[in-house]
Amino acid sequence: MTAAAGVTPVPDWGARIDAARAAMSDLGIESLGVTAGSDLTYLCGYEAMPLERITMFVVGLWGEPVLVVPELEAPRVDDRDGLFEVVTWADGEDSLDICARMLRRAGHPGGPVAIGDRAWAEHLLGLQRRLYHATWVPASDVLRGLRSVKSAAEIALLREAGAAIDAVVETLPSLEWAGRTEAEVAAAIGDEIVAAGHELVNFVIVAAGANAASPHHEPGDKVINAGECVLVDIGGTRKGYCSDTTRVVSIGAPAAEVEAAWDALRAAQERATATVAPGIAAGAVDAAARGVITEAGYGDAFIHRTGHGIGLDAHEDPYIVAGNDEELQPGMCFSIEPGIYLSGRFGLRLEDIVAVTDDGVEVLNRTAHELIVVG
Ligand code: ZN
Ligand code: ZN
Ligand code: ZN
Repeated sequence: MTAAAGVTPVPDWGARIDAARAAMSDLGIESLGVTAGSDLTYLCGYEAMPLERITMFVVGLWGEPVLVVPELEAPRVDDRDGLFEVVTWADGEDSLDICARMLRRAGHPGGPVAIGDRAWAEHLLGLQRRLYHATWVPASDVLRGLRSVKSAAEIALLREAGAAIDAVVETLPSLEWAGRTEAEVAAAIGDEIVAAGHELVNFVIVAAGANAASPHHEPGDKVINAGECVLVDIGGTRKGYCSDTTRVVSIGAPAAEVEAAWDALRAAQERATATVAPGIAAGAVDAAARGVITEAGYGDAFIHRTGHGIGLDAHEDPYIVAGNDEELQPGMCFSIEPGIYLSGRFGLRLEDIVAVTDDGVEVLNRTAHELIVVG
């Protein structure tokens, strides 16, 4: 059988399941159940439909892994040459009973069960009613360490996704800006994200003028004017892996106050990037960015963490946030995206994805760090 579209070409699924089992064994967890989403895709390559009909991949310390799947979706499943058993359920059957039985089969009746962090409450509550002796922990306890350290193949896919989103950034100077609405420009950029080879557009933030002081502004009917800055934060999914980058477009020459803030922001982003190396605490990267911005007098205007991990999900571990003393390891991939937000005036953010290497850092986004000035 062939791999489903959008999935990493031939990862070693068996090795991933073995690594999950090793982590379970260390933590004393006997069974793991993950529902539709990236944990499930990570472990067996299947992209389950996130619907009320439950799909669950169950890994026990012993025995064969099992994919419980709605009968009508079973034809989409590739069992990776018999790596796991496929158990189907038909409409009208008690699907949660089946999932509970598989989780119990994978461990002792009262043993600890790890459940996917993003499992729906209706699924988890139903399982808890059926396995009332079990204790429950989040699957991230088991999978966080595995998923946050990317293999060479995964880094190659993130590098490709980075190049694809960079190609979109390169088109920004040739777009029409002044006189169009944020939403019109966002739609045009969304088309470019697909044209650049992403199979999905994950988000397009186009925030003009004072709107950019809201970091996650939803593009609307505000018309972009000459003299304004427009924050563009874009990302898509290519071959299952996410891209994410932010640049700022200035419509005409930027005002002196914008230029001063941009210089500080750029220095902060580059200082933080330069600190990345194995053994450095994630929080130290945040501190590096924050230190530069605070010294320049904009400390109160940097209102979010410096970055987030990226992979199958657009936001995942590790988080580059104050207080996170987790040490960076080769293979971790995350954003470095400090921002300066001045309410009622303007907002700026500069974002690249980086990968930790054996002795430092590789930057996966390669477009210039200058403000992009358009006519
Ligand atoms: Zn964001
Ligand atoms: Zn972003
Ligand atoms: Zn980001």
